[in-house]
Amino acid sequence: MTENKKDILTLSLEEIKEFLVKKGEKAFRAKQIYEWLWKKPVNSFEGMTNISKDLRSLLNENFILQSVHIENMQISKDKTIKVVFELFDGALIEGVLIPTENRATACISSQVGCSLGCEFCATAKMGLGRNLSVGEIYAQVAEIMKLANEKYNLSLTNIVLMGMGEPLLNYDNVLKAMEMVSSEDGLAMSPQRITLSTVGLPRMIKKLADDKVRFNLAVSLHSANDKKRSGFMPVNQRNSLTELRDALIYFNEKTGQRITFEYLLMEGLNDSLKDAKEFAEYCKSFPVKINVIEYNSTSDKRFKRSSNTTFDEFVTFLKARNLVVNIRRSRGMDIDAACGQLAGKKK
Ligand code: SAH
Repeated sequence: MTENKKDILTLSLEEIKEFLVKKGEKAFRAKQIYEWLWKKPVNSFEGMTNISKDLRSLLNENFILQSVHIENMQISKDKTIKVVFELFDGALIEGVLIPTENRATACISSQVGCSLGCEFCATAKMGLGRNLSVGEIYAQVAEIMKLANEKYNLSLTNIVLMGMGEPLLNYDNVLKAMEMVSSEDGLAMSPQRITLSTVGLPRMIKKLADDKVRFNLAVSLHSANDKKRSGFMPVNQRNSLTELRDALIYFNEKTGQRITFEYLLMEGLNDSLKDAKEFAEYCKSFPVKINVIEYNSTSDKRFKRSSNTTFDEFVTFLKARNLVVNIRRSRGMDIDAACGQLAGKKK
């Protein structure tokens, strides 16, 4: 049944209007419906309380609302909340609410699973299920926003596309969803508060630049040495660090934005001072901000978190080179909400 119904979230306001008029309904209803879809999003037609039952049924008969439903939720001691979302086809994805002193960040997914096979990442073990629709990406933000409000009385301040999947392999849907998130018709969040995190696909990064996106770009670098990076990130075998650098130079020139690098420290793999030196060299081509991240252990015992001493030395080295470095300690560890663990321990 649902296969031949169109996802209503793919319709513009004009198209909804046309549909209503064709069905003999009042055109002004379109605006109300549109608001229920984007401004104060509900996850079923039933939730559109100011439109008549008949109209709701009409929508139900003609469209699906490809939204997400909270299937499960775990709250960490540090207040981080991991949410498991169920999709219309039963697939499960995860999102996280990360409240800190002055922010509330939603970490959301762009795909069911992931195709890139980074060795250290739990999501990679699932392989790729499918791309998420615009509505499924958008609805995660909306649901986590509600949660921040209900649980902690906080407004959502930031969004990071750092959950499951590779956002640049679901390019159109991710961009459309973020456009609506920042639109006045949607959640009106500033694009500067949105960060897209990618494994670093040169061709797609150039496309982002050509499309003049206004959100932040973070690249999961984890090593500035081709041989090493290719060892634990197979994507690097087809996209060298030189190509990546060229794309990032292009991005910086076109958008004027600096690049954020994420660097996950894994014991004995990428955490030596030689690694730090190579990394610092790589950072010379454009203005950067660096996030050095603590590794969260997964079931794969080949990868371990670096010791505190090694971590500190690595960070000190980068800072001595005048680089802007932030430290990302793990959050939500007691509930496996930490990045790269999202696919962990599913029934
Ligand atoms: N595909 C995108 C976004 C999803 S991964 C990307 O690669 O950036 C989000 C971040 O979590 C990436 O930086 C990824 O390298 C990191 N990550 C994966 N597994 C992790 C783990 N076990 N511990 C900490 N970070 C991890």
